[in-house]
Amino acid sequence: MTDIKMTLTEAHDLALSCLIANGLDDVNARAAADRMIEAERDQCHSHGLFRLPWYAGGVASGRVNGKARPRVEKLAPAVVKVDGDNGYAPLAQQMAHAPLAAAARENGIAALALTNMYHIAAMWPEVEALANEGLCAIAVTASYPYVAPAGGIKALFGTNPMGFAWPRKDAPPLVFDQASSAMARGEIQIAARDGHSVPETAGIGPMGEATTDPNVVLAGAQLGFGGYKGASLAMMIELLAGPLIGQFLSFEAMEDDAGRGGPPKGGELIIALDPARFGDADGFMAHGEKLFTAMLAEEGTRLPGMRRFQCREVTAAEGITIPQSLHQEILALLA
Ligand code: NDP
Repeated sequence: MTDIKMTLTEAHDLALSCLIANGLDDVNARAAADRMIEAERDQCHSHGLFRLPWYAGGVASGRVNGKARPRVEKLAPAVVKVDGDNGYAPLAQQMAHAPLAAAARENGIAALALTNMYHIAAMWPEVEALANEGLCAIAVTASYPYVAPAGGIKALFGTNPMGFAWPRKDAPPLVFDQASSAMARGEIQIAARDGHSVPETAGIGPMGEATTDPNVVLAGAQLGFGGYKGASLAMMIELLAGPLIGQFLSFEAMEDDAGRGGPPKGGELIIALDPARFGDADGFMAHGEKLFTAMLAEEGTRLPGMRRFQCREVTAAEGITIPQSLHQEILALLA
């Protein structure tokens, strides 16, 4: 099958029409389309248009509020809460940005509890936006139980991602954003869709058997990156994005879904720090650059996030391509 080529504007229009046709109101649809197209722009396909059928299905099932009106609340001077009103995450995330940044500047450090939202996707959009304003940021979220604890074979933790961003003066922020599993779930689904194998470290089959078949991993359990170390990070994120902020653990989110196959409901914790308030306001940025220069001095290295920033230049000029099968699926949702 041939791929379908489109500009970023065409892709945004397509996503927006599809979301509106499937029950989201304008403000929620725009926020969700913005996020999907940012992901396509940076060639992070597992958070792009690929998610449209899932978004449509979540509203159709009655679980997700397509007309959500998130509520911003200050729980403490340095703790902001945004209740997502059972809608998709992007609108609540957009609304949370300014209050979190303001609280971080006021207190030096602030935390944001994003709650009662569906499908928190990649971590980089929020942390990158905060670093663009001179703040450091860390973001974590849980999802559905896909990852076995170290030594186990039963999927219990989410693929729980963590994002980190550090501001830079004359360059885009330093950003890394990674799953605590060896592979992101969406990448395994895409491998299954496209008939590719996955590395043996990605996961195990239902009986704990080794496999490179993505379908067998999807039926079994994914593995944490770096063995027990990744599993412990996944566990930490379960606690920070779950019990700490009164949201579901990954296996509770699956119980809540009750077999309907929609996006997970849950929360996200973001911590923002204002480097200007930590004792080296004038020096921290140059000091950080010293690290990056030392890293890049060695051949074969690169800074995390750079692939995405380079993709931006390419997709702005050349547009994006999506598989014809996905394009047909989206057109069917519009019919
Ligand atoms: P990757 O393994 O593709 O990349 C992880 C990070 O490592 C990126 O910041 C990437 O930067 C960086 N990186 C990759 N290669 C190098 C290198 N050679 N040198 C330096 N840095 C490098 O990401 P994952 O597959 O783990 O996750 C993909 C996305 O899925 C993330 O956005 C994550 O948030 C999301 N996710 C969401 C979940 C959810 O439940 N919401 C669950 C799991 C994952 P670059 O981007 O520049 O390549």
